[in-house]
Amino acid sequence: MAKFSLFNKRESGKAPADSDFILNAIEDGVVMVGSNKAIQMFNPAATKITGWTAQEAVGLELKTILSLVNEKGEPLTDQANPFIQALVSGRVVKESNVTLQTKTGKKLPVSLIVSPLVDSRTKSIRSVVGVFRDIAKEKEEEARRSEFISTASHEMRTPLAAIEGYLSLALNPKTGQVDENARMYLQKAGTSIKHLGELFADLLTSSKAEDGRLINYPAVVEVGGILEQVVEAEQFHAKEKSLDLQYSVSANTVLGSKVVRPFFYSYVDQNRIREVFQNIIDNAIKYTMSGGIVVRLTGNASVIQIQVQDSGSGIPADDIPHLFQKFYRVDNSTTRTIGGTGLGLFICRKIVELYSGRIWVESELGKGSTFFIDLPRLSAEQALEMQQTQASIISPAR
Ligand code: ADP
Repeated sequence: MAKFSLFNKRESGKAPADSDFILNAIEDGVVMVGSNKAIQMFNPAATKITGWTAQEAVGLELKTILSLVNEKGEPLTDQANPFIQALVSGRVVKESNVTLQTKTGKKLPVSLIVSPLVDSRTKSIRSVVGVFRDIAKEKEEEARRSEFISTASHEMRTPLAAIEGYLSLALNPKTGQVDENARMYLQKAGTSIKHLGELFADLLTSSKAEDGRLINYPAVVEVGGILEQVVEAEQFHAKEKSLDLQYSVSANTVLGSKVVRPFFYSYVDQNRIREVFQNIIDNAIKYTMSGGIVVRLTGNASVIQIQVQDSGSGIPADDIPHLFQKFYRVDNSTTRTIGGTGLGLFICRKIVELYSGRIWVESELGKGSTFFIDLPRLSAEQALEMQQTQASIISPAR
């Protein structure tokens, strides 16, 4: 088979087609990979990014040329490789942050979209086209932005605490005398200061989550116990809005006259995971005007699944893919009147991903939403073994 490189004129001797001009000119790397996983086409930008020329790349195996690695520098498995995923599933696969190892061994962050080309006659996948972009500069800028947000929100906490302190002194009859009107204004100022404090705390957490500085002490934790506590604490907020908040655990076992709840162990930081549950249930209450919320705990041998279902406003289908991005808020009359920062779900996703978990939502506008959280589950034996190892590290035998 003749090698096809975009550098050369077409083999027929004709001038290159318009599509070739476009592929030669664009800044994004474009590669075509056949169903045999061999590279069929490689544009000049792909050469600029990877260091391989089209002549070298075409005909060679995908993984030799586009070496994609994980954060430890290990090659991605076939299941995690977007090209193989697209070849196997026939779906478009998008990766906003994957690391590419260039010909010289340099590691570059890239964003990548792989689209399958399906044979219209046989309906089989003929090849896939990957479009990728070097995002090293964007990541640097993002890191600088994140550093700025982190410093600014940290610095602002001190004056904020002082304002909060003086407001409470003014409102305390022992330290300040104010009339009824002034009391009301000061109370409103106090509420706003509290929101501002929460916003700075969220900003700080999100910037730390972005560059991996989130303080996190994972340990073996029984997730069911934490979820139950959070639901209990949230009952107060639900009652304030006359909403019914229920909690149910699947696969309870009946032993004699007792109902025994299964244990759901995972290796997570309990404070961080509590934050996630609180956020999702808080949102369910916040965006539900009538009806109720059901929190379910279920799972199988390897996964713990938490479901938070509400009968609230629901989320438009167009917004769902963006919902877990930073600062994203659905723009409609309901959300405009309900305050928020759009940081909560972003932080939740970052925390869940820290433990190799997954968070997503299914929703129908006007009917309600269900948020799902999957966390890796440890068997009781694994949990015990890890707890013993932890204990021996904390207090080594003399
Ligand atoms: P915030 O609630 O502070 O705006 P979040 O990141 O927690 O930020 O949520 C992002 C957006 O997702 C919200 O602004 C809202 O539009 C939407 N949302 C989150 N949870 C729900 C829910 N249970 N029902 C409907 N919309 C929701």
